[in-house]
Amino acid sequence: MNKTPSLSPPEVMDFCANPECAAEIVEGQLAVRYGQHLYCKMGCAAKSIGITTVSAGEE
Ligand SMILES: [Zn+2]
Repeated sequence: MNKTPSLSPPEVMDFCANPECAAEIVEGQLAVRYGQHLYCKMGCAAKSIGITTVSAGEE
């Protein structure tokens, strides 16, 4: 099998498991793994598992 030089775009490994995002996760990208799922960023993972950021003290 021929390895093509880095002219080709990075290979898509997976898609973000957050359905609202579903961004491509490419080879070498920093992604977030949670169980079986892979997310493109921490925010997507957090949202998907029900973690939200709030300002402390605000109702
Ligand atoms: Zn995402």
